[in-house]
Amino acid sequence: MPEHDARIFLTGLDRRRFLGLSAATVATGLWPGLGRGATAETDADVIVIGAGLAGLVTARELIRRGVPSVLVLEARDRVGGRTVNLPIGNGHIVEGGGEWIGPGQDRIAQLSNELGIRTFPAFYEGDTTYDIQGQVSTGLVPNLEIGTASDFAKLGWKLDRMSKRLPAGEPWSADGVENLDRQTLGDWLSQQRATSFSWAVFRLITRAIMAGYPERISLLWFLYYLRAAGGLLPLILNDGGAQDLRFEGGSQLLSIRMAEALGARLRLGQPVQRIEHAGPGVRVRTRDAIYSARRVVAAMMPSDLLRIRFDPPLPPERHALAVGWARLPRLPIVKLSVIYETPFWRAEGLNGAMQSDRAPLQLVFDNSPQDGSRGVLSGFLSVTEAPDFADREVRETKVLEELARYFGKRATEPIGYVEKDWATDPFSTGCITPLTPGILSSSGPSLRRPVGRIHWAGTETAEAWCGYMDGAVRSGERAAAEVHAALRASSPGRIGR
Ligand SMILES: Cc1cc2nc3c(=O)[nH]c(=O)nc-3n(C[C@H](O)[C@H](O)[C@H](O)COP(=O)(O)OP(=O)(O)OC[C@H]3O[C@@H](n4cnc5c(N)ncnc54)[C@H](O)[C@@H]3O)c2cc1C
Repeated sequence: MPEHDARIFLTGLDRRRFLGLSAATVATGLWPGLGRGATAETDADVIVIGAGLAGLVTARELIRRGVPSVLVLEARDRVGGRTVNLPIGNGHIVEGGGEWIGPGQDRIAQLSNELGIRTFPAFYEGDTTYDIQGQVSTGLVPNLEIGTASDFAKLGWKLDRMSKRLPAGEPWSADGVENLDRQTLGDWLSQQRATSFSWAVFRLITRAIMAGYPERISLLWFLYYLRAAGGLLPLILNDGGAQDLRFEGGSQLLSIRMAEALGARLRLGQPVQRIEHAGPGVRVRTRDAIYSARRVVAAMMPSDLLRIRFDPPLPPERHALAVGWARLPRLPIVKLSVIYETPFWRAEGLNGAMQSDRAPLQLVFDNSPQDGSRGVLSGFLSVTEAPDFADREVRETKVLEELARYFGKRATEPIGYVEKDWATDPFSTGCITPLTPGILSSSGPSLRRPVGRIHWAGTETAEAWCGYMDGAVRSGERAAAEVHAALRASSPGRIGR
């Protein structure tokens, strides 16, 4: 179902059914400070905040485990969070956010199976275009001398070995953690006397998969990311790596299907403003409603929590984590897609992929529909790096000029253009999340630790594939198990399985 149809479906749900949801709906005005226009208070066993993959999986798992009353509150008027389908005509879509999955990402693969959503291989047949250190070349790998290649391979191997020494999911408890978190990946590359080519490739990698620069990213965080993905190669390989497969119908379809199953247990357009510990439960306030629950799961990026007031305030370590996450060294990203009559580059032996260590385009790839009935080149760009591209109209024209450098004049003859600008999105504090030094070693232990009756989900909390859709699913499964166990401990007869 395309995004707009899904929105109609979801926003069209009968609001009276929402209000009929709980066993105990208490009249408005019982609580001091209730905002103007607030409606009745609604009770649930568990309130999940955020209808991205993590939140929806949390709710699905809680229901599957027999928790009688689960409610999901989502700020936006759509589900999916950092996954969103953008229609491009003829019933096709492209993803404006998360898109690919790959080997080892078993949890999201299983979820899509259960939801009846099939995958297909992303298109990589043919030569990739490289623009590295100002040199444009095409081939299987960039044009380089053997010595240059071996320096990069040696550094990658060393980083892999270092990452494997980190305890899975708990890098903060590693030996020598302060030292690893005191330096950046860039500091480490300098110490290793990395060649300028290796620097360029690491820059390409961190820009492409982390939206940041080696000079700003904590070495500990970089190693943690590798550890969570099983190494550097699984992260950077296209086919056979994290960019291997796409979803038929787009990645947002997973969230749309889960939302359909939730029905009236999902409420859109409910940005949570305040979470209060209240007696034996938790009270959650949005602009126009109050909800109460025995447990709450906040399923979002740690920095998103800064828009919510907590009473009592979050413990200093947890608050520091949210603040640290908001100070990301990230590049705000626009993910754009240019649509053509045909994938014309394929006939020239090119696979449509372009990888670069310089602005404006970070990465381009063939994002055509599976049947090839249209051609789509998608790419990532940050206006921080390319201020000339800040204006949406100008950007569109300039992107075509850039694509023409790599794919010829036909690249300037599109039939459509769509994009998702994450920099201006009010509900995602950034998109991909590298950390600066000093945060993970000091505040990391609070990443998953519940605060009273508040639990945490979201891909950033995942022990494997953190930052990815698979990590989001895993985090939801973990949070649901945690909450289910807590509820069973407090009322064994009432909560199932
Ligand atoms: C451009 C881009 C490309 C990506 N590419 C890939 C890829 O190819 N493969 C991959 O695996 N991953 C990719 N990712 C990452 C992937 O999309 C995320 O890891 C995943 O979607 C995160 O899911 P989540 O549920 O943890 O968080 P989110 O999707 O961020 O969900 C959080 C939800 O909480 C809601 N929310 C926030 N604040 C409030 C509030 N106060 N009240 C109520 N609701 C609130 C938000 O609206 C949102 O719906 C990409 C991300 C981006 C942005």
